[in-house]
This record gives sequence, structure tokens and C-alpha cells, in this order.
Amino acid sequence: MKNSSKIITSLCILLLASCQPQARFFEDAICIQNISTVDPNNGLEENQTVVIKDGKIYKIADTATLLLSGENNIIDGTGKYLIPGLWDAHVHFAYIEELAPLMFDMFLSNGITSVRDTGGKVDFVKDWKDNAIARRTAAPRVMMAGPLLDGEPNVYDGSDASHPELSVGLGSVDDVTNQVNRLVGKDVDLLKAYEMLTPEQFRKVNELAKANGLKVTGHVPLSMDVISAANAGLNSMEHLRNLELSCVANSDELLAERQKMLAEGSNMAGGELRTSIHRAQRENALKNYDETKADEVLQVLKDRDVWQVPTLALNTFLSNKYFADPEYQKSYSQLPDSIAQHWKNRSIILKDYPMSEAFQAQVDFNLKMVKKVYEKGIPLMAGTDTPIAYLTPGLSLHIELEALVDAGIPPLEVLKAATYNPAKYFNMQHELGSIKENMYADLVILNANPLDDIQNTKLIATVIKEGQVYVSEDMKADLKIFRD
Ligand SMILES: [Zn+2]
Repeated sequence: MKNSSKIITSLCILLLASCQPQARFFEDAICIQNISTVDPNNGLEENQTVVIKDGKIYKIADTATLLLSGENNIIDGTGKYLIPGLWDAHVHFAYIEELAPLMFDMFLSNGITSVRDTGGKVDFVKDWKDNAIARRTAAPRVMMAGPLLDGEPNVYDGSDASHPELSVGLGSVDDVTNQVNRLVGKDVDLLKAYEMLTPEQFRKVNELAKANGLKVTGHVPLSMDVISAANAGLNSMEHLRNLELSCVANSDELLAERQKMLAEGSNMAGGELRTSIHRAQRENALKNYDETKADEVLQVLKDRDVWQVPTLALNTFLSNKYFADPEYQKSYSQLPDSIAQHWKNRSIILKDYPMSEAFQAQVDFNLKMVKKVYEKGIPLMAGTDTPIAYLTPGLSLHIELEALVDAGIPPLEVLKAATYNPAKYFNMQHELGSIKENMYADLVILNANPLDDIQNTKLIATVIKEGQVYVSEDMKADLKIFRD
């Protein structure tokens, strides 16, 4: 009897031992052990082990089922949160050319592993894109539009510091064809249509984009309304630009008036003409906002799958006054001295800038529409317009995420707007933007849960770009450690 119970005990021990998973060794890999993952589609998953190998996520498993042997390269993820690398879906490398060489580091150190450049001289931006491809583990992925495709007169014509030469002024439909063909030859990733295009030119941009497999983003041209722009094939809108002009009962009247102003102002500078039209119409349109018309417009945007990049921090600039916060102003020390000084001076002046009724109406409209866009199920992307409006490259994305949450969008959806959605926009969702096996290992480790408070996206412990690990201590040396 005694013997048989001994045998049973030994069998049980053997059985238990065979159930225990074997400790594994992953060669040339990094293992993040016992971390909470926050996937933009699947949400929070606790106690995960994520193995990174050859620049990709090689394996994800419950920490309890994936025992790691001591010789692995292990990052302890206990108490930390893993999110996909972030996107800033609206940046301009060419807006302040002097700043461009610093932007890679400023993005990466803030967890931004991909950016979408929405306008600038094509050769200038392409140089930075090529540079990023050449050292892909030390730079964010750059997707680029090339110049703003504008009509005549064009807005960003290089006439002054606030209108650098970001656009090309196109006089005819043939000019559009020639310019788009040139950009296709430069391997642009999307096209950006701008406000002074004629409807014929705008339709041509969309037609050529589709023929070349490119997306079209833009500002709705002043010569059109939102519904006709969406019907022409526009894939995404920046800043909700000119949306208010279509959300009124008399939108057709306003459109006819704009077309007249455009014809009469053809000798003005582009920036001046655009401002005069906005002045003539925007305030009145906001006062006469019509909910039924707005819902009709949003339904078309939904049906036509026109995504929105609301740049909410920028659009509510004079009410949220992010630049007035001394903590925020610390980020100016990362800029070249002359720029930092200028931004600081402007921040002090604007801090006390009075909020007019007209500005308040714009802010209210933006906040309301962002919420409606979300509720309608129209995909959002988080973008900032950095370095416009003293939006420091990198940090400004976190300000945008906060603004989106404050507007009433749940944190997980906001995270999706800065990760999965931009990847999907470029049809890269099978390799980027989620925490799944075989995805690029573009990841950020946070010290606190971003779903509890979106500001926790700023508490960055580690940034990983295609498998290359950067820990926060390395990034503190004025954020320039990534440079060769
Ligand atoms: Zn922009």
C-alpha cells in the first residue's frame, strides 16, 4: 500500500513537471516581461510578455505561460503600459526649414514613430523622407504629400514669414496634370489639395490621385462646398476647414458669393484673398449654424468615407492657450535660440489676447463638430500642424490628444486616432498601429495607464522604433541623442 502511494506521488510530480512550461531563450531578441498592453482595437490586456526580434513583434503571450530563461535580454514591464508608436498625422518639415534637422529627435523622444507631412516643397521634404528611410531605426517613418496643390493666386506663396512657400499655384487643369505627374515621379504618398483650386482643378487632382493609387487630403476649396468636394473623392479633411460654410441653410448662396469674390480678387495676394473671404463669411455662417444641414453634411462625409484630422489644439488655440503654460514653454528650449525667443515673446503677448465673440464661436463650433464626427463614426486622425502656432514638434501631439479627450472622445478612441487609424489610412494596418505579432516593433512604454488619463502618454519610459530601444534617460540630453 505504502509503495503504491509513493508511485502515485512520483507520477503526480512528473505530470506537474511536464505541465510546467519550459523556460525559453530568444536569441537576438528583446523581451518585455509582464507589461499591460493597450491595443487601440482590443483595449487593455494585463500581464503580457512581448518578444521583439528583427524589428518586429515576434511573439505575445501571457507572462504566466511564457517562461523566459535568465539569458534573455529582458525589460521589466511590471506596472507599465505598452502602446503602439504614435503618429502625428499633420506636420510640416518645410514650414521653418531651420527646425527640420531637429524634428526627428523631437518626434521620437515623444513616442512619435511615424508622421504625415501635409505640405512643403517636394525636394526638401523628400530629402527628410529619404534620410528617415536610410536610418529607419533612428527616425520616424515619414509619409509625404509634397506641396499644397493650390490655384491662382496661391496662399503659401513665400511672400512673408507666415506664408512660406509651401504651395504651388496652378493656373489651369493642365497645370494640375503636369504637377501631379511630377509628384508621382517623386514618390509622394498622398496629395494635398488647397483652398484656391477651381472645382475643375480639384476634380482633376482627385481623378489623377485615384489613377495613381494615392489618397487626397486637403482644405475644401473656397470655390466648392463640402458635399461636392466629398463627392469628388476627397479622402480626408484637415482642420475641419471651411466646414462651417456648408453647415448653414443658405450654403448655396454663400458659395455663389465666394465664387464671385474669387473671380474679383484674382489680382490680390492669395493669403489676402483667402482671409477676406473667410472674414466675409465665417462669422455669419457660425451664427447661422443649422443642425439639420450639419447632419446632412456629416452623413455625406460618413457615406463617402472622408476622414477628419481636426487639429483641435490649433483650432482652439486662443481658448486653450497651451502656449501660456510655463511647463509647455520649457519645450522651447529644444528649439534653435532665435526660434525659441520668438515663440516665447509671442506666447507672452498672446497669453492676454482677448477672446472675441467671433473666436469663441469658432472654438465652440470646432468642439461640437469633433464630437459629432466621432459619434457619426467618421474616422479621426490626430495631427497638430507643428511647427505652426508655437506647436513644439513632438510634445504638441500630446496636447492634441488631450484636446480630443476634452472634446468628449474616449481615450482609447483618441489613441486609435494616433496609431491604428493613420496606419489604416495608408493601408499599412497589417504591419503597423496595433500590438500584434508580426507588426513592426514601433512601440512606446508608458509609466502610467493612458486610458485612466490621456496625459499619461507623456510619461514615456521607453521608445522602440523597429526594434531599436531608447530609454528615457538617454533622451534627456536635450533630446538630441539620436543624431549620428
Ligand atoms: Zn498644415
